Amino acid sequence: MQIISSKERQVYPIIFPTSYGLIGTINFFVINDGESLSLIDAGIDHEDCWEYFNLALAEQGYAVTDIDRIILTHHHEDHVGLLKRILALKDIPIYAHPLTILRLQMDADFFMMRYQFFHELYREMDCLHDAQPRLEKLSRTLNELDERKLIANYIPIQAGDFVSGLEVIETPGHSPDSISLYDKERKWLFCGDLVLKESSTNAIIDPNLNGVRLKSVTEQRQSLTKCEELDALLVFPGHRTIIENHKQLINQKLESMNRKSKRMLALLANEPQTASSLAKQYYKSKYKTEFSLVMSEIIGYLDYLEDHQFVIKEKIDDVWIYSVPKQIQDKDGL
Ligand SMILES: [Zn+2]
Repeated sequence: MQIISSKERQVYPIIFPTSYGLIGTINFFVINDGESLSLIDAGIDHEDCWEYFNLALAEQGYAVTDIDRIILTHHHEDHVGLLKRILALKDIPIYAHPLTILRLQMDADFFMMRYQFFHELYREMDCLHDAQPRLEKLSRTLNELDERKLIANYIPIQAGDFVSGLEVIETPGHSPDSISLYDKERKWLFCGDLVLKESSTNAIIDPNLNGVRLKSVTEQRQSLTKCEELDALLVFPGHRTIIENHKQLINQKLESMNRKSKRMLALLANEPQTASSLAKQYYKSKYKTEFSLVMSEIIGYLDYLEDHQFVIKEKIDDVWIYSVPKQIQDKDGL
């Protein structure tokens, strides 16, 4: 294991190689501040990940029971997977965004609201039929709340809080609860899935606590800019390799987002259409195989384009039709 040291503090990166999906590795990090051990994120719930984690700790002369606290960057299953196994050995506090806590507690009201949110969303995006598998999955979750809930000593954190010398920075977009952790003195940033090398991060559509759709692409861009402005020598991401040139990488990501939004705009300029019809045109067969991610992307970009007045939408027969206003078409020569 490559250990990173600076000013009496060490990071032990746990870089778990995986063949699940296209994520390359699942990364989580142990930080030794000289007095205590903090774990940032907690891998995926697989036996081989658990073994890998235990071996990596043993290499440094530690065991799982030496960890004093866990800090989570967001609620996704490849970041919280080993929590149950860790807490079974030792009851330690979990520091997390309030929305992460609701997800882990499997809060019934929240999950019911979320089901209704997606049902309504897919209806007005004209893809209720194609959304059936996704909606069935969400509905199954509603029946499994009790068995899946994780009871723990949760400590909610928000922007400006410090945990073990790490400043909490809210960086939503990939998920509404995404946070980054910044060690200003050492110029280290633990960014969760905000920015990844060699793969793009999806901005995933989700409601806020009140059931209002969050502008995921707009938020993702703001979070990337916020991160780009930080002075960081090393950025520790949730997947793939550790990042040394984050400013350059983030600028590339922002530019590729610009290109994507222009391609979507060009398709819309050809003909006004629904979000699902645009998704089929843009993503082709992926529309079926990765339905929920694809619809997330399309809706996120449409919200972004609409906020910048590049597209307008009109409700016809209870379905949103998106189009490019005449003056934009003329101006951009689309
Ligand atoms: Zn994630």
